[in-house]
Amino acid sequence: MRIDLHTHSDRSDGTDTPAELVRKAREVAGLDVVALTDHDATTGWDEARAAADEVGVRFVPGIEISTQLRGESVHLLGYAFDPDHPPLVEELRRVLDGRDQRLPRMLERLAEHGVDITLDDVAAQSGSAAASGRPHVADAMVARGYLRHRDEAFDGWLNSGGRAYVSRYAAPLLDAVRLLKEAGGRAVVAHPWSRGSDRVLTPETFERLRDAGLDGIEVDHVDHGEEVRRTLRGIAADLDLVVTGSSDYHGTGKSAAFALGANLTAPEQLERLLG
Ligand code: AMP
Ligand code: ZN
Ligand code: FE
Ligand code: FE
Repeated sequence: MRIDLHTHSDRSDGTDTPAELVRKAREVAGLDVVALTDHDATTGWDEARAAADEVGVRFVPGIEISTQLRGESVHLLGYAFDPDHPPLVEELRRVLDGRDQRLPRMLERLAEHGVDITLDDVAAQSGSAAASGRPHVADAMVARGYLRHRDEAFDGWLNSGGRAYVSRYAAPLLDAVRLLKEAGGRAVVAHPWSRGSDRVLTPETFERLRDAGLDGIEVDHVDHGEEVRRTLRGIAADLDLVVTGSSDYHGTGKSAAFALGANLTAPEQLERLLG
């Protein structure tokens, strides 16, 4: 059984439509189970579910929520929740609006450094996405010939501390866990110790999150080396949390290290998570 629980379509910052992604999951990556976890959006679920029925793959509806803990960014995966639960919808709206609202300031900063990108340029890149994020600004810089690839924008321009970086709203982590649980879903911390991020998620914090309803930790992720994976697996075992593994696929928006199925979740862990 090949199970991948973290992927992005063009409803956020991936490059495949939800249907294309699901078809590739089955036909290219040979997955048996695939979750769609667009950033702060569930707008791809229906299309992905229909494609999954067609190609014969199990579809898990999901999301990756942009949260923060003590000012540090933490990504929270949610699965199989009610996408219409009003308090959750409201909080996701706040995150998506925050992303759109900071755009003019980001473009001003870029202009101060001689990079001329318009809101229309960004909109052309975000297409059917629920909001325009930094990856779409990066894509606009590429389209206008300032850079060769999206990744280059995260090296001095749009990364935290970069020349054109502007922060935005993120949901308080504990609130986001509670909202997902209230909505009948499961909550898993995404790539908790990914490269370049501060390790605000200590074992004590994981314990508090577990007590608030957290179900699991994404351990097997391309951003985690062997040592990190061992340590996180130990924390998950101590706290009786589910361990997941996933690709964090973004289509051509990220390198081949993020290919569908590049990291997988064990069947017994999926069973514990979703039954
Ligand atoms: P935003 O939420 O709009 O600030 O954009 C954050 C998104 O940008 C993340 O979810 C990633 O998909 C992407 N991103 C962040 N850092 C990098 C990076 N170093 N290289 C490429 N993409 C990145
Ligand atoms: Zn992303
Ligand atoms: Fe993430
Ligand atoms: Fe992701």
